[in-house]
Amino acid sequence: MPYLSLEWYFPFFEGILLGLLAMALHEVGHVLAALALGIRVKGVGMRWKGMYTVREAGPPAKNLLISLAGPLTNVLLMLCWHWSPTFGLANFCFALGNLLPIKGSDGDRALKCWHDMRNQGPAA
Ligand SMILES: [Zn+2]
Repeated sequence: MPYLSLEWYFPFFEGILLGLLAMALHEVGHVLAALALGIRVKGVGMRWKGMYTVREAGPPAKNLLISLAGPLTNVLLMLCWHWSPTFGLANFCFALGNLLPIKGSDGDRALKCWHDMRNQGPAA
């Protein structure tokens, strides 16, 4: 009975593990960007939609960069496509899914920051 062997399930578990790794590295991107820009990170958590980072409110320009750092990390990790197409695909999905301007996404946050920056004018 070949379907009962664990090997058959390996691609499924591999996909889940690489997806979780892509998600974790996405948050690492946010955290590293926040630390580099001097914004204090209060914590990283997990909810049904995935992981999230809680940080101090910074100026819109810094928040814009921090919001884009997560998806950008996934774009860079897509370079691993040759090593693991599954990991490359997981990163592609995270980059795309987080950049879509859906309420609460990184793309939505980045757009709001961009809007705030434009409204503040060149003196900001
Ligand atoms: Zn994110």
